[in-house]
Amino acid sequence: MAQSAPTEVDVAIVGAGPAGACLALNLAALRRVVVIDRAAGPARRFGESLAPAARRLLDDMGLWRTFVAQEHMPCHGGTTHWGGPRPIDADGLRDPDGPGWQIDRALFDDWLRDVARARGAAILRPARLERVVRESAGWLLQAHHPDRVIEIRARILVDASGRNAALARQLGARRLHDDRLVCRWLLGKDNLAARRGLRFVAAEAEGWWYSASSPGDRRILAFHTDSDLDAAPAVADAAAFLRRARSIAPLASLLEDVEFVPDPGAPSFCAAHGTTLTPSIGEGWLAVGDAALGFDPLASQGVFQALYSGLDAAMSIDAALSGDARAIPGYRARLERIAATYRARLSAVYAQETRWTNQTFWGRRR
Ligand SMILES: Cc1cc2nc3c(=O)[nH]c(=O)nc-3n(C[C@H](O)[C@H](O)[C@H](O)COP(=O)(O)OP(=O)(O)OC[C@H]3O[C@@H](n4cnc5c(N)ncnc54)[C@H](O)[C@@H]3O)c2cc1C
Repeated sequence: MAQSAPTEVDVAIVGAGPAGACLALNLAALRRVVVIDRAAGPARRFGESLAPAARRLLDDMGLWRTFVAQEHMPCHGGTTHWGGPRPIDADGLRDPDGPGWQIDRALFDDWLRDVARARGAAILRPARLERVVRESAGWLLQAHHPDRVIEIRARILVDASGRNAALARQLGARRLHDDRLVCRWLLGKDNLAARRGLRFVAAEAEGWWYSASSPGDRRILAFHTDSDLDAAPAVADAAAFLRRARSIAPLASLLEDVEFVPDPGAPSFCAAHGTTLTPSIGEGWLAVGDAALGFDPLASQGVFQALYSGLDAAMSIDAALSGDARAIPGYRARLERIAATYRARLSAVYAQETRWTNQTFWGRRR
């Protein structure tokens, strides 16, 4: 396999999801940046919403107009059945930032990577990171691209590998789980155009349900519970999952016009627990996005935080490389404040649901 002399960069980023790509596109005009991602294809993520406040962030990064041109589906609000039998309707009309969006993650992630490339970042994808060696002035990395081995010397290393924090754990950091939340989901074809762009959340005895529009007239139906509760294996079978959903009154009518076609290749469960990385920065490295702080999906904040932490980390790294020793500790302090605010709000939202406090799922969250 071909191998050439090490490529010298300022920053090497592991992971080209929203956090890694956003960091790269903000730093590429100022520093030499390389991004390494192991995936060949798009992320399989459906029905994810982007908070309205992202508009200001995208504007600050010079991305707003091209974001709008992609025509992601506006999310005008939805209905929540939480804390009592009466539905609560929310709409984007009162939000000064306007509506949020149901984003097409494949399109969104590709677009961020394209902007990063256009601004000068090198993106190696698919590429497997094989070795990470600490040197006196930085790091020596070895990555396998399909047809060659690449060596990279970087002054700063960034973990943007998502909730597994693969790189930071290799460097000795620990990932703490807030709980055992998992998500079981199915995609269906939604035949009712009138409710596209509307989200739906409903609490039940052993967890909560989520449903939202996804690109291509599809609708995701997702159930969140703890992996060690009986409800988790009980919904592993697709037919049992749908029976359970239809037994929940507010969901039954929503699902009348949705056709679920089994997809044997689709994973049935994914991890959905909140996570914290400790520490989130170290000598010559830091983490961004889910690798640094993973959110419970109830918060719908993960993509926003990936973008925000990517931008914040870009500015902090640039300052650190110019000699500001307080820049990266400052990044960590802001991350800790975000984590504290997120946890307080999440607890308050879970505490609003009091109908099943004797159930383990809800008892654990009080
Ligand atoms: C069930 C569920 C529902 C969600 N719903 C929402 C929602 O509605 N709204 C919202 O804002 N957020 C939501 N999220 C969160 C959102 O998906 C994440 O916060 C977001 O994807 C984080 O972006 P990231 O770039 O940090 O990580 P990721 O998107 O996970 O990207 C990580 C990248 O790193 C690469 N990678 C991983 N390991 C390695 C390695 N060892 N070497 C090289 N590359 C590697 C991966 O291929 C990937 O490209 C949800 C999450 C879950 C689990």
